Amino acid sequence: MPPDSFLAPQDGRSRDPADVLRHVFGYEAFRGRQAEIVAHVTGGGDALVLMPTGGGKSLCYQVPALARAGTGIVVSPLIALMHDQVQALRQLGVKAAALNSSLAPHEARQVERALAMGELDLLYVAPERLLTDGFLSLLQGARIALFAIDEAHCVSQWGHDFRPEYRQLTILHERFPSVPRLALTATADGPTRREIVERLGLEEGRVFLSSFDRPNIRYRISPKAQPRQQLRAFLDAHEGEAGIIYCMSRAKVEATAEILNSEGRVALPYHAGLDAQTRARNQDRFLKEEGVVMVATIAFGMGIDKPDVRFVVHLDLPKSIESYYQETGRAGRDGLPSETFLLYGMEDVAKLIQFVEASDAPDARKRVERGKLDALIGLCETASCRRGVMLSYFDEQLDEPCGNCDTCLEPVRTYDGTEHVQKLLSCVYRTGERFGAGHVVDVLLGNATDKVTKFGHDTISTFGIGNSVSRDEWRAIVRQVVSLGLLSVDVEGHGGLSLTAACRPVLRGERRVELKAETRVRAARVSGGGRAPKAALEDPRDEALYQKLRALRLELARAQGVPPYVIFHDATLMEMARIRPRSLAAFGDISGVGEAKLERYGPQFLAAVKEG
Ligand code: ADP
Ligand code: ZN
Repeated sequence: MPPDSFLAPQDGRSRDPADVLRHVFGYEAFRGRQAEIVAHVTGGGDALVLMPTGGGKSLCYQVPALARAGTGIVVSPLIALMHDQVQALRQLGVKAAALNSSLAPHEARQVERALAMGELDLLYVAPERLLTDGFLSLLQGARIALFAIDEAHCVSQWGHDFRPEYRQLTILHERFPSVPRLALTATADGPTRREIVERLGLEEGRVFLSSFDRPNIRYRISPKAQPRQQLRAFLDAHEGEAGIIYCMSRAKVEATAEILNSEGRVALPYHAGLDAQTRARNQDRFLKEEGVVMVATIAFGMGIDKPDVRFVVHLDLPKSIESYYQETGRAGRDGLPSETFLLYGMEDVAKLIQFVEASDAPDARKRVERGKLDALIGLCETASCRRGVMLSYFDEQLDEPCGNCDTCLEPVRTYDGTEHVQKLLSCVYRTGERFGAGHVVDVLLGNATDKVTKFGHDTISTFGIGNSVSRDEWRAIVRQVVSLGLLSVDVEGHGGLSLTAACRPVLRGERRVELKAETRVRAARVSGGGRAPKAALEDPRDEALYQKLRALRLELARAQGVPPYVIFHDATLMEMARIRPRSLAAFGDISGVGEAKLERYGPQFLAAVKEG
């Protein structure tokens, strides 16, 4: 246990947040806007904190909760998330507990008693529990340091994480006007932000907006050609690392996990069709073992705090840039190099359009969804920096190309493709604007398939006018032309292509069109600048010691039934391996080693460093 002086003060005065950061968390300095936020909230102010995943939101309420007198109450929508945070805090010597439906009544009563007695630094609670009369009156009698409302975007009806109880949280303001409230989210868009302020009554509070860039994540996007081989090439570069692979359907999740297992990886499936027990078991293994690959639908991910997810793959197109950003954002929370890989094909686009069109949402909503899809296709087809395109979608400007995405690392040459585009557009027109890319390309290539002859398309003027270009190249041209808005994919979702108004100047020769020169499918990895980023140490001796420390960490974690990262993060172990501390004092200087961990684990890790 750390000295009592660094636990939440009971005497009514505040501690210095910088001291809390150093002694409890073992960190030297606040990051980004943390210092401002912590000062504001410790001083009693309300705030909305918008920070990307991995930005360090938890410290923004944990430090003030410890610095101020009383218990910090954290509203959190997911039991798994609470559980994880409580485990991590207890490792730090913080008196944390969670209150939710997973507790037996006598356990819940115990937690409530501890709250009433002022024995808790932090209490995580599910919104529905918080809103009960019983709990509210319990709070009335307790000393409260602050209210933190985590995943605050859950108040938004349009988001997929909508939680109606979140809207009733304004009651906190009414009942406890003098307790500071802090809402936090990693959702970037303006409308959601405004909704949070309005719904949670935070008009008087300050808004802290951070950049949503995730510089340690490398983005790669490739046309889908031979997905299985493309995936294998990518995974080969991520041997032994933990990652997530997203698929659109449950069947594909199962099939992919099976293939990966047969290839010698530890891959587990996760989707809503599995029973709760299997899902919980697979999630637990993903968190507690190292190097597990989770193959999942989007049912997996929210509330997963695992900091060392080294890669995220999308085998199918996500729904929008927001979804892509959120899902890829689960990689590299710990700030170490991580890589993402998206495979996309025109068929996926058609499928997604069909989803949108078949839904019973109002037309205006459908138009918004279509617009989002178009923006996503634009991101997939861009020849410029992916990060730049993505951030500009969130109204943020990148000063220069990032140097850490595929288009930056392997720049794409472009050429004047106007003539190709004209041929494609007239072929779409001549075939009646109702066929998909496959058929149109057959006509361009002059392939007299059954379908082509059946419709008499072997007799039209565009038959065979494109036979100097390969099929793959034509397909790439179709995708780019769709992404430029010159062709649209039909609303019934069968993939039929039709002309848009924007294509007129191109057909008349008044507008030139630049296309990407390299249409061949790239391997996931190219030599040189394209080598997969690695979270590893340069010196092989350090790397060997690092692996040894990891093994020790895993052993200690297993004995306690907790995930390894709640003991020490990879970055902390790396620093240990590099610095090789010789004394407890030197050990305590390592980032991520607070007083509780120094006392608890210091001797064992020191011994391992000495031997190594
Ligand atoms: P978020 O909730 O915003 O996704 P977390 O609170 O989980 O992010 O923090 C992400 C990672 O960064 C964690 O591993 C955390 O320990 C680390 N971290 C946060 N703030 C600091 C800091 N000031 N110094 C060092 N590490 C930090
Ligand atoms: Zn870039």
